[in-house]
Amino acid sequence: MSPDNDKNEQPPKRPLDGPPRGNRFALILFIALMGAFSVFFLTDQKSSVNEISYSAFLSYLEQGTVEAVKIVDQTEIEGKLRGKTGNTALFRTRIPYTDLDLVKTLRESGVSIEGAVRGVSVLQVLLETLPWIFGFFLIWMMLRQFQGNNKAFSFGKSRAKRYLDASKKTTFEDVAGQKEAKYELTEVVDYLKNPQKFVKMGARIPKGVLLVGMPGTGKTLLAKAVAGEANVPFFHMSGSDFVEMFVGVGASRVRDLFEQGRKSAPCILFIDELDAVGRTRGAGYGGGHDEREQTLNQMLVEMDGFDTKDGVIILAATNRPDVLDPALLRPGRFDRQVVVAMPDVQEREQILAIHMNKIPVETGTDVKRLARATPGTSGADLANLVNEAALFAVRRNKSVVGMEDFEDARDKILMGIARSSLFLTEEEKLATAYHEAGHALVHYYLDHTDPLHKVTIVPRGRALGLALSLPEKDTYSHSVARLKDRIVVCYGGFAAESIVYGETTTGTAQDLRQATDIARKMVCEWGMSPKMGAVAYGQEDEPIFLGKEIARHKDYSEETARNIDASVRSILDEGRDRALSILTDHKDQLETLARELIQKETLQDDAIRVLLGFPAREIKE
Ligand code: ADP
Ligand code: MG
Ligand code: ZN
Repeated sequence: MSPDNDKNEQPPKRPLDGPPRGNRFALILFIALMGAFSVFFLTDQKSSVNEISYSAFLSYLEQGTVEAVKIVDQTEIEGKLRGKTGNTALFRTRIPYTDLDLVKTLRESGVSIEGAVRGVSVLQVLLETLPWIFGFFLIWMMLRQFQGNNKAFSFGKSRAKRYLDASKKTTFEDVAGQKEAKYELTEVVDYLKNPQKFVKMGARIPKGVLLVGMPGTGKTLLAKAVAGEANVPFFHMSGSDFVEMFVGVGASRVRDLFEQGRKSAPCILFIDELDAVGRTRGAGYGGGHDEREQTLNQMLVEMDGFDTKDGVIILAATNRPDVLDPALLRPGRFDRQVVVAMPDVQEREQILAIHMNKIPVETGTDVKRLARATPGTSGADLANLVNEAALFAVRRNKSVVGMEDFEDARDKILMGIARSSLFLTEEEKLATAYHEAGHALVHYYLDHTDPLHKVTIVPRGRALGLALSLPEKDTYSHSVARLKDRIVVCYGGFAAESIVYGETTTGTAQDLRQATDIARKMVCEWGMSPKMGAVAYGQEDEPIFLGKEIARHKDYSEETARNIDASVRSILDEGRDRALSILTDHKDQLETLARELIQKETLQDDAIRVLLGFPAREIKE
């Protein structure tokens, strides 16, 4: 087959909307290569040369048919045969061994001898190496493609996310409350806006600021707000992003992150969840130099390695400052700590307002009441609450989100999802109603307890029912009277069951645990037992790697232990007796409340007051 034939087999015309440019280029390259190959092979096989064996050659020689030979590279013989009729043929053979007699024999036979060296032609070398080059080129292209797609080959890169989008910039406006934190961070913002002012003064701005606070309090949000306020690039990386399977990757990522920072100064580097890399060294399971330690060391080195003058500020966030390596907190590193606290009532109201602004809310929705009804929730919880409320509204096919949706969302977040599918028998339902009514009713006869918010026998989470009281304002410390009343409320369910049925059920387990917990703390931690005195018994310590597991060391005698138990017991007995006496005195009300609960399943405070004839509660603002 000649090259011409090859060409004729190509389709004469290509459709107009043929393959795209890249493909066409590859196609042309392919055809060119194929062409080159065929040329190479065709020229190589010089048409009419016969390969013959060496023994055949020797017999031709004996017959005297060999006319002339050319010995190529001392390994090959090319020659011409002449037959008796005068016809000639070209042949080629390989010399299988070093035949020293060959030349002699040839001369004796009168054959003309010629020696030759086969030159290496440039074309040949080119053709032989081309496929390899082509192959490598292909592999390289594929790798590049791969890399572009999923960065699988950029292990050492920091992967920091860069936020510069001016359209959805976060500012301090987006962060409700957090006055102190904002105040501290304003300085950083001022510096980033106008570093010269500080340099002239000779004032040294902290290199690193550590935001410390519980999960969901808005640390990440605050860091973004600082970047937004100062209008500088913001590189966001989580501590766990540094930690990889391969040793040395973390350290290299740290290097890369700081490199990026230096290049785009002034800017903010934000390391979220710093504790993932910043835990105290030498405390790891593996011991010695593990990957995390290397990463931490690199971070320390990098922080020492540059000056605030460069205009790079490092922010970090953690909810476990206690486990951080002390070296991180040294001057010149994260020497300033900013506490990001849980929101109080007013802040909760502001946070709710910020997030409610983003959804259509029914006019007249009582944000204040909602804020009061969500004690102990973080900013993230509240953001979640508003979102859940919006979801409830969608499910109810409403166009605006109303109080009912917010209440349901609050219940879901505070108490778990309602389990309407849980099947209870009538007796179980009645027992639950008495139990919850007992909890609810004692609230109205105690002076130092938080007012009841609502009581329900709709099972939620693991509880069959719930009596929820809510503080009028956030409280950070508790008096003896409050704690004792709290214990009475815990015993409300137990007392109701024993009065109505003469025995109690397993439904009281959680209540008893809670009551016992309070009583034990009163005795051992808060010095509230006159008999045991104002002494803290037992030592609490939290080992770094046991997480939240608290180990209590006993550092008192058996005698003391017995006394502690007796004191706890007497506090609990007193609580139970008070609950019993309240409910015995008002057994009729207990009955009424339980019956009503069976009917309505959920009762709010005001409804109960109407039902049982208590005066309405005035809300103190
Ligand atoms: P952290 O980093 O402290 O765990 P985040 O900053 O990630 O908490 O907060 C999670 C979300 O909670 C935020 O995106 C925001 O919607 C909401 N949030 C938290 N605190 C506030 C606040 N003070 N004001 C407004 N929203 C807040
Ligand atoms: Mg965070
Ligand atoms: Zn109970």
